[in-house]
Amino acid sequence: MPRRKKLTTVNLSSGGSYSGHTTDDVCTLDVLARKYEEALSETRPTTLYAPNTIYHVDRIQRLFEEYCDKFQLDPQETLRECATARMENFLHWLLRTYTIKKTSTLTTYWRQLSQLYIMWTQRRMDPAVMRQIFVFIEGPLTEEYGLDNEEIEKPLMEADDFVELIRYHWASDINWFPNERQRLQLAAILLLAAFTGSRPQALLDLTYRDLDLYIEKDAETRVDMLRLGVKLTKTKSRQKRKRPKTYTFNLDDNPIFCVITHIVSLAFDDSAFGPPDLKSPDVLFRLRARREKGCQPIPWRKEMLEVPIFRRAIATKEGVKTSPDRALTYNVYQAWVKRLGEALGYLQTLTTYCLRRALGNAINDDPKSNAAVRNLALDHVGSSTIFERNYLSRMIRYSTQDAFWNREANPQAAKSASRIGRLRDPNRPRKLTTEQSQQVRRLPSVRRLLESRDRVRGVIVREFGFLRMAIGEPIHAEYKKLECMVNSTIRAEERALLKCIQRQYDEAAPVEAIQRQIKGTSAEGQELTTESTPTQIKIPERRQIAEAAMSDPAVFTGPKALSRHIKCSATMISLCRQREGRRETRRERLSRKYSRSTGETDTATTVVSTPTLPLSSPPEGCVPLACQGFQCLFCLCSNLPQEDREKRYAGKHSLQRHTERCRLRHFQEKDRIPCPDKVACRGKVFEGKSHFKNHAASVHLFVL
Ligand SMILES: [Zn+2]
Ligand SMILES: [Zn+2]
Repeated sequence: MPRRKKLTTVNLSSGGSYSGHTTDDVCTLDVLARKYEEALSETRPTTLYAPNTIYHVDRIQRLFEEYCDKFQLDPQETLRECATARMENFLHWLLRTYTIKKTSTLTTYWRQLSQLYIMWTQRRMDPAVMRQIFVFIEGPLTEEYGLDNEEIEKPLMEADDFVELIRYHWASDINWFPNERQRLQLAAILLLAAFTGSRPQALLDLTYRDLDLYIEKDAETRVDMLRLGVKLTKTKSRQKRKRPKTYTFNLDDNPIFCVITHIVSLAFDDSAFGPPDLKSPDVLFRLRARREKGCQPIPWRKEMLEVPIFRRAIATKEGVKTSPDRALTYNVYQAWVKRLGEALGYLQTLTTYCLRRALGNAINDDPKSNAAVRNLALDHVGSSTIFERNYLSRMIRYSTQDAFWNREANPQAAKSASRIGRLRDPNRPRKLTTEQSQQVRRLPSVRRLLESRDRVRGVIVREFGFLRMAIGEPIHAEYKKLECMVNSTIRAEERALLKCIQRQYDEAAPVEAIQRQIKGTSAEGQELTTESTPTQIKIPERRQIAEAAMSDPAVFTGPKALSRHIKCSATMISLCRQREGRRETRRERLSRKYSRSTGETDTATTVVSTPTLPLSSPPEGCVPLACQGFQCLFCLCSNLPQEDREKRYAGKHSLQRHTERCRLRHFQEKDRIPCPDKVACRGKVFEGKSHFKNHAASVHLFVL
């Protein structure tokens, strides 16, 4: 292919290469003619839609076609005509066919239909029709079908609550992560969400290319400052990389709340730095900017540029790892945030949007800021309507009472009314008790399912002897299906019961509290009981960070601030490589108990073992690790905390089940399996599962 001409002024004195090209070489008429033909025949949407939008429009299209089918109408034609009566009729059909409880849901469907209209006709729907239908939905339809049209209160998470959130994240006992890097990632995302007000997906999409780390001499103090520019490129729809905006971060005094410390720790865990000798925070935090150059960029390795910084955990043959290239998913992230809110006892659901709304309202309340900055921060293009409609707290954050009297206002009372932490009760039930869970299992609907499952199992056992002998047979598939149904029914019933219990509690608790106070029996100053103190945390690195998070922020200022950052970052890096054994959830414990009571296998219990194993310092390359009791060799050779590493299972069955989940299921029957004892059996690899099991049993007393 001939070289293209440059769109610059050609410097004629530079030589004769200019004359070598003619227009014909570069762009043949053929090509242009073909492109012209294509343009004539091709229909193309006028806008680029995000995958999510396309998904929603596809769904409304299916629904609309289903409706048209009933009346033998042509969908395209019907929508193009867009007769009000027809559109209203479609909405009636939707409401009668599907469970729709909220006005807003129906409004959303209507918007999506108008989007479909654009896709099919390449133009917008008549605004008069749009408006007419909106009014129809909010008025007559809402009334006729008793739709819920009250907007739910949108809580804000402001600074005080945020401090507590981050502390709880490090110190609370209930939040388990597949590995500890995920814990650090979540903290980093939360910090970014609070300080940028971004939508969560924009943060999950951050790659190294979007992170600009540099050292700069401060204009006034001439001190070298480590700074981080975070470029958010993904705004709504497909505008990626089109209109990025950049936030700049300085080192925060407190490393627990410092975006830079978190990001560079993750980067060290990824070995993402370009300069080969830049290997530790100790080196990084002491780098200087050259005097004559204002700014010294710190480059990433080229291969890292497109890699997302927040990545998911994956199970591999070597155990749980962080995926080298796949981003953390929104659902997983959101579930963790929600769990954190539950741990804190918030009555409202905690989401990233609580932080986004808080920042929006904070900028809005700040007399030094303005609407333009707020709209840019929140990606609200062009107007303030979106903010006012969806983000401005419905709790009026301004004392109208003081304004009326024209007196000095105390905004605090009005502001705190919108805080998520205001409605918080650590005593509110957030899990079912064992007794309540058992109650669910005694419900007739669950019982019936359990009985059919047990009947099928009975048949299998009579015919095949053992359940697993029937694997692959139709009857085994039927058994599996029943088991799935049992589980999902139990889960749904548990959720419903918990909701009901919480509702009763929310009604009764304030009444009781007031009564106690009047009668003088209240436990005054009842403090929130954290579920664990940092000392109970198993992983030492996390314990150190938790302690730092709980300590008085004042200790982080002063001359030692930098060395604290270095220390904290080093701790975070080493934390990333740790992992905690998963504790059994109550449901698992229960279902195990239950299946035992109906005559299945044995139970797993943790026996706190005496540390008799030569774990810390095995004599160089001689004594192989030996399992004691029913211990798992893979765990024993892992970097789990001692208690999890040396966990003993109660019997052969539970050990087998664990080992399968722990590692073996990632290997095919004939795969090569390396011995996990990397010291005594360094380099030993076995051909297939049975070879490995022989070795494990004879050398490591790991009998499966
Ligand atoms: Zn294991
Ligand atoms: Zn071995």
